[in-house]
Amino acid sequence: MKKLIVANWKMNLGFRESFTLAAAYKKTFKRYSLDSARDKNNEVVVCPSFFALSEVADVLESSEIFWGAQDVSWELKGAYTGEVSAVSLQELGCRYVIIGHSERRQYQGESCRQVNLKARALLDIGLTPIICVGESWEKRQAGTSEAFVSGQVKRALAGLKLKPMQDLVIAYEPIWAIGTGKAIKPRDAELMHAVVRKTVLKILGSETRLRVIYGGSVDERNAPELLGLPDIDGLLVGGASLKPDLFYKIAKVE
Ligand code: PEP
Repeated sequence: MKKLIVANWKMNLGFRESFTLAAAYKKTFKRYSLDSARDKNNEVVVCPSFFALSEVADVLESSEIFWGAQDVSWELKGAYTGEVSAVSLQELGCRYVIIGHSERRQYQGESCRQVNLKARALLDIGLTPIICVGESWEKRQAGTSEAFVSGQVKRALAGLKLKPMQDLVIAYEPIWAIGTGKAIKPRDAELMHAVVRKTVLKILGSETRLRVIYGGSVDERNAPELLGLPDIDGLLVGGASLKPDLFYKIAKVE
């Protein structure tokens, strides 16, 4: 499977800014589609705010870049004021949806049970969840990162079944590395990715189409080394994804 590079624009941009950035991505990534090694390119996904999805989708339609969302409701339809259904995201051509981001867990009190329900809703209608997991600095210091993260993975996947050929993405994002400029050391990332992979494959079976991607202060300097590690199947990029040239440097294949 191709490596997956996901841009998480969070709530950083307004409607026009999202449109403008999508257009800049399209222009910058034109080089990508002209690349002679096109089929070796990484898969690139942009996750704007819900309100900008339709416009961003229009801009990116004829490009090499896919789009996705930053969250979803676990219900598919009904009286759920303010929520957005996986059905609508599918209608807008989304392929991927980020769920359980640490910012949502922290500020919206999103629980592992809710992440599990959201993953079910997405898989039911054929979208690929990008399930975020990751430990706090306190847990890392206490030496409990592995147990904590594998627990998060187990709770997110409880009772889930993937259909044949369905993809699953887990984003390992240590909370202390998000937006801090303090990325994980490659050997620590390798260890955590191996823990995540082992946990998922034990639950869902060794044939699972799984990618374990890393997020947390990724930039154009650390990306090549991280992407070169065998257990890292891609990157989730926050801050650096707001600058198309930087993001291109992260996403391109040498
Ligand atoms: C994120 O929020 O998912 C993230 C990885 O952010 P940043 O790249 O800014 O650390």
